[in-house]
Amino acid sequence: MPDIIQLLPDNLANQIAAGEVIQRPASAVKELLENAIDAGATEIKLIVTDAGKALVQVIDNGKGMSMTDARMAFERHATSKIRAIEDLFHIRTMGFRGEALASIAAVAQVEMKTRQEHEQLGTYLEIENSKVTKQEPCAAPTGTSISMKNLFFNVPARRNFLKSNAAEMRHIVDEFIRVAMAFPKIIFSLTANGQQVYYLESGSLKQRILQLLGNQYNTKLVHVAEQTDYMNIQGFVGKPDTARKTRGEQYFFVNNRFIRSAYLNHAVNSAFEGLIAKDSFPTYVLFIELDPTQLDINVHPTKQEIKFEDEKIVYAFVQAAVKHALAQFSVAPSLDFSLNADIQQLDAVSKPFTETQQTQASSSDLYQTFTQKNQAHKIAPSSNKGLGHWSSMLDQFKQPEEQWQQSSTEDLLYGKPKKQSIALKQDAPLLQLHNTYIIASAMNGFLLVHQQLAHERVLYERYGAAHQQKMPTQKTLFPVTLDLSTPDAVLLEDLLPEVNSLGYQLEYFGKDSFIIHGTPADILAGNEKHSIELLLEQYKHFSSDVKFSKREQLIRCMARQQAIKAGQSLSQQEMLQLIEDLLQCQTPNITPSGSPTYLEYKEDYLDNMFRK
Ligand code: ADP
Ligand code: MG
Repeated sequence: MPDIIQLLPDNLANQIAAGEVIQRPASAVKELLENAIDAGATEIKLIVTDAGKALVQVIDNGKGMSMTDARMAFERHATSKIRAIEDLFHIRTMGFRGEALASIAAVAQVEMKTRQEHEQLGTYLEIENSKVTKQEPCAAPTGTSISMKNLFFNVPARRNFLKSNAAEMRHIVDEFIRVAMAFPKIIFSLTANGQQVYYLESGSLKQRILQLLGNQYNTKLVHVAEQTDYMNIQGFVGKPDTARKTRGEQYFFVNNRFIRSAYLNHAVNSAFEGLIAKDSFPTYVLFIELDPTQLDINVHPTKQEIKFEDEKIVYAFVQAAVKHALAQFSVAPSLDFSLNADIQQLDAVSKPFTETQQTQASSSDLYQTFTQKNQAHKIAPSSNKGLGHWSSMLDQFKQPEEQWQQSSTEDLLYGKPKKQSIALKQDAPLLQLHNTYIIASAMNGFLLVHQQLAHERVLYERYGAAHQQKMPTQKTLFPVTLDLSTPDAVLLEDLLPEVNSLGYQLEYFGKDSFIIHGTPADILAGNEKHSIELLLEQYKHFSSDVKFSKREQLIRCMARQQAIKAGQSLSQQEMLQLIEDLLQCQTPNITPSGSPTYLEYKEDYLDNMFRK
């Protein structure tokens, strides 16, 4: 047999690697803005045309590059920011992988002008397909200007994958806001198709927030600031009346890096509990600072994720800091404070913050631990007290007895079923065979039940009824982030309403990720992600059955996936429940796909067999 493995040609390998870092114009925007910040710029201009598809240009007045560095900068893994592996634990710059410029040069046409302050002349470079096509000295202002033209001109498949200009522009503005928010001292501007969209003067964080989110927040921001020797937090949260029905203005930064964290988001939300309607989202712009050794920003090159050394402390700290800020604000509401109707009814708002409440708030564990200066690291990581209401909430979710209405799809396939009338023999013990079959005595014989198939039928009917009565949801203790491949994310987004009506509580969180707030009540904690991945797998596998609606297919997949498996040992109680549930079904005797769920052995048949 001939050898079949070949090395990819350099340019192809580069294009593939670049796909990791540069997925769309907005990714280049982020990288180029961050480079300008790392270069110490005090003014940064972003210019885009055609939503960045034709041009993304960033001009900064930072320290510029020498002629040699200008060329080096475009090599893969070329960086001035780390030298040794230890440096990874002390990152203070935005970039450090040395991949951004190399990636951009692999998938676009690049022009760069750069000059260092003490040099007479600067350097001009043109690069295409990772190859320098022109290099010459040039006159240039101090700093760097990099233009990325015709993104993916050499990778048409990726170019076709880009979304509409409106959607790509939205991504660009999002990145711009995130970077600009974190550096209010730096002047930023954004010009799109020749029109200036933003011009942000240098100012305080509050001024920057108002520039970016709008002046209506002027009297609506509550200052958050707490310092300990483990970590600091500062920033603003919106007063309760700025909470929105859709996830809107929520910004978390760790060491000035924008991050997404369902976990920290939850910490802030919980601090707002009782102050805003349950289904609304508070506004916040919060900056956490902590020793870089306490975090790992290396989780994924483009996903804005982060791992904390001790996330429980960070959670407790954020929650307590926001609570503290809100409590102070409730004591002294400002005059312009106007509440909208649904918030007004909440006790915490409609009643004045009493002295008792104040004492209660300030004697709470968390409040105590963190207001004692420099004690945050002593917060007991998991004081289970705070979880009390979760477990009582879980108790609430007892399976309701649903009236199952036959789905028309099943009618079509199997005809209108006759409800079976099988009476189990009371008090007769059930017998499990091979952890798969259950033998149940009936009035005139016995049933041999396949536990997995039977359960599949039960779940199928239960899920099917969910459009009349929403499936009970079990809140996840902490929201879980689910990152998917782009095609899976697209599929799940498409199925989201159906999936959520079946007891999941999923929310699209941008960039191919979702937050799992809740799952159907019978999914085990810790299994949330896996259950959805499985569901998608099954869905893809079975969705060739075009005769079914999306919903029907999902229900079938979920029933198949969630059913107890053959091989699982069951208690008497579990077996009894299963068989009772099965016999309650409209069509107990077959699975949705038509396999029998049980065999019935009638007494006379048995007698016959034994020739009695
Ligand atoms: P990283 O930022 O991870 O180091 P990049 O590929 O983004 O990797 O940049 C490579 C190097 O090029 C940087 O480490 C820096 O030395 C230099 N560089 C990039 N952009 C600029 C800029 N705007 N001004 C000065 N130097 C820059
Ligand atoms: Mg960089």
